[in-house]
Amino acid sequence: MAKNWAGNITYRAGKIHRPSTVGQVQSLVAGSGRIRALGTRHAFNELADTTGELVSVGDLPRVVEVDSAAAQVKVSAGLRYAEFSEELDAKGFALPNLASLPHISVAGACVTATHGSGVRNGSLASSVAGMEIVTADGSVVEITDPSGAVVNLGALGIVTSMTLDLVPAFEIRQYVHEGLPLDSDILGVLGGAYSVSLFTDWSSSKINQVWVKQRVDEPEFVPEGTVAADGPRHPVPGMSPENCTPQLGIAGRSFERLPHFRPEFTPSAGEELQTEFMVGRSDAVAALRAIDAIRAKVHPVLQISEIRTIAADEMWLSPYYRRDTVSIHFTWIADTAAVLPVVSLVGEQLAPFAPRPHWAKIFRIAPEVLRSRYERLPDFRELVRSLDPEGKFTNAMVGELLS
Ligand SMILES: Cc1cc2nc3c(=O)[nH]c(=O)nc-3n(C[C@H](O)[C@H](O)[C@H](O)COP(=O)(O)OP(=O)(O)OC[C@H]3O[C@@H](n4cnc5c(N)ncnc54)[C@H](O)[C@@H]3O)c2cc1C
Repeated sequence: MAKNWAGNITYRAGKIHRPSTVGQVQSLVAGSGRIRALGTRHAFNELADTTGELVSVGDLPRVVEVDSAAAQVKVSAGLRYAEFSEELDAKGFALPNLASLPHISVAGACVTATHGSGVRNGSLASSVAGMEIVTADGSVVEITDPSGAVVNLGALGIVTSMTLDLVPAFEIRQYVHEGLPLDSDILGVLGGAYSVSLFTDWSSSKINQVWVKQRVDEPEFVPEGTVAADGPRHPVPGMSPENCTPQLGIAGRSFERLPHFRPEFTPSAGEELQTEFMVGRSDAVAALRAIDAIRAKVHPVLQISEIRTIAADEMWLSPYYRRDTVSIHFTWIADTAAVLPVVSLVGEQLAPFAPRPHWAKIFRIAPEVLRSRYERLPDFRELVRSLDPEGKFTNAMVGELLS
């Protein structure tokens, strides 16, 4: 049976189709009772699964059409970011931001509001200007107003292409600084450069590493009280940095520095589980203190925790909807039974800050509580009803959210 990347989910779907034309996607969808899209399988929960059939758009013809005048690119939805970033760069363009690894599909990333870091950077979904989607009756619908439809959790249909807004190509220098006390000016550090990530294993009240991704045209930023790493680092203590993007301030193209991991390596063997909660930036310091208070429970089942920032947006199901965000991420050991109680505990500690979970990672939040954190959920429910009246693309997770 097919599994997700981490191997913790076995898909129940009877079959995984790999159509090679949009026409085939249309016929498949029109003839199916229950169907869902599958991307590059990096989600850690049952979001992609269905009791019906799955369809991957990974074999659709490759499309990378740059419109230089509009500063946009139309890409096939199943492409991984690493598969077209270099081509954009060659044409003088870049995406404003990327996630920690470039191995994920564009559609799978955007429909789940996948993000990188940077106080002025939105999620990857915020770069989506439009998309083509095969809806329940098999027709291709062109979406030109992305606010309600992009972060859709696969509930609107099978996305076959996306049009992304671009920025002029740029260069980044990446530095790692070590040993930031947790009671430092954390928000100041997170806002100190184009993209900043903090890593801690919660073994002490200290941030182990500050990853600073600085545009070459920005002034150099050195977080106070830290020491510059004397060589390349991996975020997880003890792991070899060979699969990490170049550090030590060596300037390079943005797509080779914004992800933490190089495309030619698998970042790990999938021996991990992940959870991530998003809180408002103004609550971030208190939220970090709340995790610090339970670090004796967190540390034993943790590989590494990462803290990033995401700018607010207007997308209905976005965890960053109208809220400048700090995300608190946990890469756990690959032991579901040991990890789940700690996931619940972390959720309880953060409850006063009304955290919104990463849609594609493991979380335990009562459905009615989760629903209350998305004020535009009624609008999204209506959109689903209009495009998929019989719930063809709905699964258990989405059904619970929409009920
Ligand atoms: C090692 C690792 C590192 C990660 N780093 C980050 C990070 O830095 N930042 C972050 O925010 N997240 C991160 N993630 C999470 C990841 O971005 C999400 O899991 C994302 O959904 C992965 O995309 P995918 O194509 O693998 O999706 P899948 O797991 O295949 O599917 C996820 C969802 O997308 C839907 N979907 C996929 N393709 C389509 C389509 N064509 N049309 C409609 N719906 C579709 C599926 O139905 C499902 O609901 C990481 C995950 C891993 C394993």
